[in-house]
Amino acid sequence: MEHTKCLIIGGGPAGYTAAIYATRANLSPVLYEGMQPGGQLTTTTEVENFPGYPDGVDGTALVDDIRRQAVRLGADIRRGAVTKADLSSRPFKVEIDGETVVEADALIIATGATAKYLGLPSEKKFRGMGVSACATCDGFFYKKRDVAVVGGGDTACEEATYLARLCNKVYLIVRRDVLRASKAMQDRVMNTPNIEVLWNCNTQEILGDENGVTGARIARKDGEVFDIAIHGFFLAIGHHPNSDLFREWVKTDEAGYIITDGKSSMTNVDGVFAAGDVQNPHYRQAVTAAASGCVAALDAERYLASL
Ligand code: NDP
Repeated sequence: MEHTKCLIIGGGPAGYTAAIYATRANLSPVLYEGMQPGGQLTTTTEVENFPGYPDGVDGTALVDDIRRQAVRLGADIRRGAVTKADLSSRPFKVEIDGETVVEADALIIATGATAKYLGLPSEKKFRGMGVSACATCDGFFYKKRDVAVVGGGDTACEEATYLARLCNKVYLIVRRDVLRASKAMQDRVMNTPNIEVLWNCNTQEILGDENGVTGARIARKDGEVFDIAIHGFFLAIGHHPNSDLFREWVKTDEAGYIITDGKSSMTNVDGVFAAGDVQNPHYRQAVTAAASGCVAALDAERYLASL
């Protein structure tokens, strides 16, 4: 059975950055990229808020740059997804693709989170052409235009108020007659004049042409169906942290986000660290994920030195 000092799971900015730091610390890390190498950045178009790219950068190119940096430094980056994990004792045992088992003295979980989508075919068709699950990432491209946000939680309210500062008008499509968001966020939405809440509404279809989104067909609970003219359609109906395979061992909150100790990346299992969106529902930025990958590698290095 293969044995490694430091095993990193997840091919996004958190995992690749952890690999950069772990390689430079002579931990000879092995990283498995998972089912979607590059992670959520590969589903966005241009990234303008990652430091170091004054002219902006394509999301896929950005994450590929971080990956290539890790490879150049000597990280062993492999295709393959975790299918099982046994973290009951050290060395930890992680099964890859139902075949190989790798043993590790330290494990960094950087498996990210997956945005929830409504499941409409048109949503898939226009992904990256007006459909986005991240207002902070893509809102800028809809400056002075009309957009819609779906959802009634804190994320939806936060994204709607963020977009309201950039856009001409923001529709907030809410499936019930109440918002789930905190009172403070609700007040912020209600006090923003260019947000219109569409209560009791569901999206039937996203409308568009070869240039991207042009509108959405909305169905109200009372049976009324109407179209709104928009250029951006933002999903904010929650994320699913990719922690399922580790939950038997590692403590998570109710939503499944891995709980880490204070400002560190330490989980409740000694030697197991978590970085990026799988442990942080609040910021969800490439730069914060990268930073937390760095933290996890530094924590793993200190842990391995103490053995
Ligand atoms: P939530 O699960 O809190 O909210 C999801 C929202 O999407 C709900 O309003 C839900 O409706 C709606 N929804 C779910 N599925 C559908 C669907 N198929 N069609 C239409 N609407 C749908 O997720 P969030 O991402 O908003 O928040 C996650 C966590 O992060 C929460 O604990 C939140 O408080 C926290 N958070 C905190 C922030 C802050 O403090 N600044 C900022 C952002 C998030 P319904 O209500 O009917 O179920």
